[in-house]
Amino acid sequence: MIGQRQSPRGRFAPTPSGYLHLGNAASALLAWLQIRSERGTFILRVEDLDKPRCKPEYAEALIDDLKWLGLDWDEGPDKGGPDAPYSQSERGELYELALERLQADGWLYPCYCSRADLLSAASAPHGVAAEGGAYPGTCRRLGPEERQERARRKTPSLRFAMPDRELRFADGIAGLRAFPPGAGGDFVVKRADGIVGYQLAVVVDDIAMGVTDVLRGWDLLDSTPRQLALYEALGANPPRFAHGPLLLGPDGSRLSKRHGSVTLASLREQGAAPEKVTGFLAWLAGVIDRPEPVRPCELTDAFALGRIPREAVALPERWQEKWISS
Ligand code: GLU
Repeated sequence: MIGQRQSPRGRFAPTPSGYLHLGNAASALLAWLQIRSERGTFILRVEDLDKPRCKPEYAEALIDDLKWLGLDWDEGPDKGGPDAPYSQSERGELYELALERLQADGWLYPCYCSRADLLSAASAPHGVAAEGGAYPGTCRRLGPEERQERARRKTPSLRFAMPDRELRFADGIAGLRAFPPGAGGDFVVKRADGIVGYQLAVVVDDIAMGVTDVLRGWDLLDSTPRQLALYEALGANPPRFAHGPLLLGPDGSRLSKRHGSVTLASLREQGAAPEKVTGFLAWLAGVIDRPEPVRPCELTDAFALGRIPREAVALPERWQEKWISS
């Protein structure tokens, strides 16, 4: 219908491999504000495929932490919804169907390389190290007989063959991005131990859940060309992507304990007020001009993608005593 716009659907999709830190909380807040400012539907999806790394207590804690901050969602593991289940560990059948389709359409190939093979390729002159760790494509080139011969000795992983052309997209925050042919190399969609790869699961879920807007952290910007290639191979339209700035410690390094209480759990334990944490994060992310205590629902009018900085943001020195504890 002319002029009718689909109501936006967005999500926050954390991996419960630890407690939510300020960087995750900023991504959650921005993704929530984007959707709530347009009266869309917000989804919480728990990305717990990597069983050894993910723990149920972290999944429970992240739900508590997000609620404490004042965020809510319409669909999620604790509430259900039309696209349930909302934990990836319970969505294996969908991933298998997608893998079958990709396999039938010739997008996948078995890879017999071991970690040691990949490391030695990386240290060869002009090897993968020079290209930022991309897979050198060794098993893409194997003939049917070689494949059969290797299959007798080893269970393969499955790789997606990246198309040989430039991939471009307009990021809502980062602007126009272009990635050279094969950016990042062919990637694993199913590991030899049967675990489905992040790239595949996230795309299958975003398609199945009708996600129209993905706002997430800058660390996932380089995953986007791979995901765009998957959308195309699966015959689906990609969502609009936007990647918010990374939060760094005051010294410019990755956020860690030595920068203070950087998890929401530890801030809560110390009696921090959620409004102060929200105001502080919203200020760092360019939503408001001063770090005043505020609730997320009071920020929906102020939200504009164009105000969010493109560069990584370092926490100010003594941030905790100045803006949170005082
Ligand atoms: N589960 C991913 C992470 O925690 C995020 C996936 C996404 O937002 O696309 O890093």
